[in-house]
Amino acid sequence: MNTKEKDLKYIMHTYGRYDVALKRGKGAVAYDEDGKKYIDVSSGIGVNSLGYCDEGWVEAVSKQAGTIQHMSNYFYCDQAGTLAERLCTLTGLAKVCFGNSGAEANECAIKIARKYSFDKYGSGRNEIVTLKNSFHGRTVTTLSATGQDIFHNYFFPFTEGFKYAQADDIDALKSAVSDKTCAVMLELIQGEGGVNILNKDYVQSLVKYCRDNDILIIVDEVQTGVGRTGSLFAFQQYEILPDLVTVAKGLGGGLPIGLCMCSDKLKDVMSPSTHGTTFGANPVVCAAANYVLDRVTADGFLDEVNKKGAYLEEKLSALGGVKSVRRMGLMVGIELESGDAHDIAVRCVENGLLIITAKDLLRMLPPLVITYEEIDEAVKILKETLNK
Ligand SMILES: *Cc1c(COP(=O)(O)O)cnc(C)c1O
Repeated sequence: MNTKEKDLKYIMHTYGRYDVALKRGKGAVAYDEDGKKYIDVSSGIGVNSLGYCDEGWVEAVSKQAGTIQHMSNYFYCDQAGTLAERLCTLTGLAKVCFGNSGAEANECAIKIARKYSFDKYGSGRNEIVTLKNSFHGRTVTTLSATGQDIFHNYFFPFTEGFKYAQADDIDALKSAVSDKTCAVMLELIQGEGGVNILNKDYVQSLVKYCRDNDILIIVDEVQTGVGRTGSLFAFQQYEILPDLVTVAKGLGGGLPIGLCMCSDKLKDVMSPSTHGTTFGANPVVCAAANYVLDRVTADGFLDEVNKKGAYLEEKLSALGGVKSVRRMGLMVGIELESGDAHDIAVRCVENGLLIITAKDLLRMLPPLVITYEEIDEAVKILKETLNK
């Protein structure tokens, strides 16, 4: 059986796949099993932040794998401690709780928010307001947190205690809040929901309103974090400091990691045995993340992300068939004049461009190290595909 046949026979069909088996890659270029070349502007889904097989990243991972590959969370781990220290120093947050994915990071944030409120106000103050069109993960609780009806199906009963408010509407938020609300959870740019960039004034009023009512602010930076939007975290551009921030996708540069950071006021909410995960804080994964942070925080790196983003936006906006471009850093949504975004993405892939969609938009999350030449090549393939 070939790769596709094995997949169809033995892997549960939870994804509609592109008809390609990727075999290897370097930077923003991937090759399939037949040796065909692709420019990748998806990075997995914003995961391979340094592209495929970055030399320094491979070295950091291999070195750690050859030193100690795992210890349980009953032991101290220097790679994990170093990563946590750096993230706290870089953000002004106080502590980190490790996990392995975005959904898990959000589960952790939800647990911390509810426990903070339980400890302070007793039971019953446990509701969390999230935004319509959000996406927070695929576990039963994070599906519940996701503000889209289409995700609330089949798997009943869902976790209780979530209310949904229209984004960018402060009155809608205030109406969704009650004396049972313990937190508001939001993405500053709704990624899966169509690259919707939230209004800065709205976000700042939301933060002020929550602060006045001791309602915690959970910012889901699973997709927007680690340089994707041109700052280390998107919340920094919104000039806010959330109580809880979740991070995953791009942090490990291709290895699975998720984590939840909390502010000083929450740093002692969780106590032994209130949360845990066998694989969390794995030293190889943390070594990968430490290396990604080295690169993303190096002088000039984020300036380049912003420059490349602006360059890409300019090229895309000039294309026939493109109605508008929504972008922050290298997180890009392309609204089309016409045509089905998914069909166009499939044809782009056939033509050698790995691209994804978000709702009815094309979406680009290129590796942060993509070159200008690779951007030109990507735009050329998209242009040819749109013209046909
Ligand atoms: C991808 C994503 C998640 C879920 O992350 P997983 O690693 O797939 O569990 C949660 N929130 C946002 C904003 C995401 O983009």
